[in-house]
Amino acid sequence: MIALCVLFSWTCAAQAPTHADILRGEYGPYRANNDLLYYHLDIRVDPEKKFIGGKNTIRFKMLKDDTRIQLDLHEALKIDKILLGSTALQHQRDSGAVFVDFPETLRAGRVYTIDFYYSGNPVETGRFGGIAFRKDPSGHPWINTACEGIGASLWWPNKDQWRDEVENMRISVAIPNGLVDVSNGKFMGKTDLGDGYTRWDWRVHYPINNYDVSLNIGNYQHFADRFGDLPLDFYALPEDLEKAKKQFAQAKGMLEAYQHYFGEYPFPKDGYKLIEAPYSGMEHQSAVTYGNHFANGYLERDWNGVGISPRFDFIIIHESAHEWFGNSITAADQSDMWIHEAWATYLECLYVEYMWGREDGLKYTNGYKSKVRNALPIIAARGVNATPPQDMYFKGALFLNTLRSVVDDDRRWWALIRGYYQHFKYRNIMTEDVVEYFNRKTGMNLTPVFDQYLRHTALPTLELTFDDAKGTVSYRWKADEAAFAMPVRVGTKDHWQVIRPTTAWQTMETPVPKDQFEVATDLYYVNAAKN
Ligand SMILES: [Zn+2]
Repeated sequence: MIALCVLFSWTCAAQAPTHADILRGEYGPYRANNDLLYYHLDIRVDPEKKFIGGKNTIRFKMLKDDTRIQLDLHEALKIDKILLGSTALQHQRDSGAVFVDFPETLRAGRVYTIDFYYSGNPVETGRFGGIAFRKDPSGHPWINTACEGIGASLWWPNKDQWRDEVENMRISVAIPNGLVDVSNGKFMGKTDLGDGYTRWDWRVHYPINNYDVSLNIGNYQHFADRFGDLPLDFYALPEDLEKAKKQFAQAKGMLEAYQHYFGEYPFPKDGYKLIEAPYSGMEHQSAVTYGNHFANGYLERDWNGVGISPRFDFIIIHESAHEWFGNSITAADQSDMWIHEAWATYLECLYVEYMWGREDGLKYTNGYKSKVRNALPIIAARGVNATPPQDMYFKGALFLNTLRSVVDDDRRWWALIRGYYQHFKYRNIMTEDVVEYFNRKTGMNLTPVFDQYLRHTALPTLELTFDDAKGTVSYRWKADEAAFAMPVRVGTKDHWQVIRPTTAWQTMETPVPKDQFEVATDLYYVNAAKN
């Protein structure tokens, strides 16, 4: 996703969490006592009444003996019944949480399946609508979901958290004849239900985040292509079809670049889809939505102001990067969403480097400095449904570029980030897992570097004090992390020298006078202060 805090102020303030936030955010005992295996979301959508009804079949394995589990469903929606076989289950609602009680103890190690029936008019909320019942320009229904912030339980019942994912899923959506539903996964076919509705069936072959599960219902036209063995399926409104055929061709270059750096597209059995939507875009797994006006840049602007983003379609490149980072590798708590967004933003930079070379890649990366605020730490409070600030995108990408300079050997760097992806793909992880991996694989203690960039607001400052008479410079890091000891290049552009400052002063001789002495701030995102 590309979210801007100016529009999403509620996500950015470090406010005390509400009771509802704790219920949503905490991996509490009635979530931790089970492991999700499978969903079959089977619903009917009435565009005119803006009404959804149906059921989610939820299969889970108990991890300990218990009589209660926690699911989630927005208060605007009615619970019709929850069944275990033919037994109706009691439940208790508390804001968005639904505590389901079982008449007998569920046993650790055993698998259970319940059918959660619900119905109602879901609430439209947030910048993308969460779930939005709209009309396309020619008056056909156009219904799309994008609910990462508010949560998927806005429109369907599920275990609405990030840590636990189903292993696979079916999505069945009945809609009026003549409309098309594009959801996630592989299209399995459609069935005329004989009552004016047709059911569209999709099968997701991989673990999937709840918020990635999506509806795209509209008067879509379909066209297809392939990238090697990977099926590419594209959906656009008829009036946009020719523009889409031209613009969506960029998906192939994106796949080529990302596969070059990280390995195979993560969801080959599900294919890759791009679907026109009435909002800017979202990384829905194997079904990326697109609303970037069929033009390069972001919403027809030069996104970070250095003249490079007009060469490519920002939404195709950014949102598709999440297939690797966000959908395949997923943060286990929203607090650590930099694992999605810093990486997806960094992948844009790698795409630029792959297409146009290292110099343009660096220029594009450093273009993001104008968007950094350094006002809140990138990692937000854990377990309270807190969304991190937008620095997780731009400062996060600049941090990863800094890490490349710290490794200071591109062959090692390429192997390191490919290895990172391959090691953690299809898993839900936290920052500690990332840091442990990079420390182990580099043999360096990068923990203070990660912590300085992710857990504090201020950039590290390289303090430099010159004695031109003696021909020396003294240097140290000013940083919140006492053990911050990041190597950095200094001197002049033609003759960089790597120094290893700590937070204590060191002095060295230099032939470069103060006014010509530079710090490689394009390679390391740091401040420099000369005295
Ligand atoms: Zn994103």
